Amino acid sequence: MNEPDRPQMSEPSKPPQGPVARMLLQWLMRPARVTGVETLSPRFRSIELEGDALKGVAWTIGQKIQVAMGSGLSARTYTPVSWDAEKGRTRLLAFAHGNGPGSRWVSALRQGDICWFFGPRRSLDLSAPRAPTVLFGDETAFGVASAFRDNRQVDYVFEVSDAAEADPVLAAIGLGGATLIARSAEDAHLASVDAELLRFAASAHFVLTGKASSIQRISRSLKAAGVARSRMSTKAYWAPGKTGLD
Ligand SMILES: Cc1cc2nc3c(=O)[nH]c(=O)nc-3n(C[C@H](O)[C@H](O)[C@H](O)COP(=O)(O)OP(=O)(O)OC[C@H]3O[C@@H](n4cnc5c(N)ncnc54)[C@H](O)[C@@H]3O)c2cc1C
Repeated sequence: MNEPDRPQMSEPSKPPQGPVARMLLQWLMRPARVTGVETLSPRFRSIELEGDALKGVAWTIGQKIQVAMGSGLSARTYTPVSWDAEKGRTRLLAFAHGNGPGSRWVSALRQGDICWFFGPRRSLDLSAPRAPTVLFGDETAFGVASAFRDNRQVDYVFEVSDAAEADPVLAAIGLGGATLIARSAEDAHLASVDAELLRFAASAHFVLTGKASSIQRISRSLKAAGVARSRMSTKAYWAPGKTGLD
């Protein structure tokens, strides 16, 4: 479903201003046209980007792109769900959690908009199949989880702020079997996340993404249960009070 016209809520992604910055950054960034914006829920958008600059690009699951915001001097990071290097097309799954530039960009995005981005660049390395795998994350990890979906035997555990919103989104992206755990005050829900993940401690490879403090807490629990560091891939996607992690 493509979005109807709505007033623009944020500055669109633009090439950087100023001759030197523009020259340098345009050389490094790729332009893309927004060819589809699907509203999966009030805060989730599936975004399709296309352009010649996306053709012939080598991409692997888990890599990131950094989309220029406003005048191009800051960027926000998203994870391609797929990349068709022949057609020059990629897709993102973005969560507009609040009122930062990324959330405003996601909420205001319309078909036909142009955006500029760096990448794809290395982030989580999920290219080598390691089964069984358990992926833990939150709303920001639905994209990487969806990219991962067809490749191997994976169990998904997500902490989410609103299970009623997240549940149909996961069903729509083919992850209806995921375990959803609603966040609670003072992170008390992480005890349930621990219990869920520890069931797999004997043999699984763990991919831990999303909120930095949750990843820290869970990797400690897994380590205490004897899971070697080599069986964990971790990447924080956000941390309270920090902006624009990459
Ligand atoms: C490698 C990588 C890949 C990522 N891939 C994706 C992706 O595919 N899809 C996606 O939606 N996001 C993804 N993210 C997360 C996204 O970049 C951040 O959530 C980013 O902060 C959003 O930008 P913003 O301008 O809305 O908020 P910011 O201005 O960056 O943040 C403002 C404040 O909001 C809070 N905050 C940030 N993110 C969240 C959140 N998710 N929930 C609650 N509070 C938050 C923090 O306190 C922060 O200080 C990824 C991040 C990284 C590092």
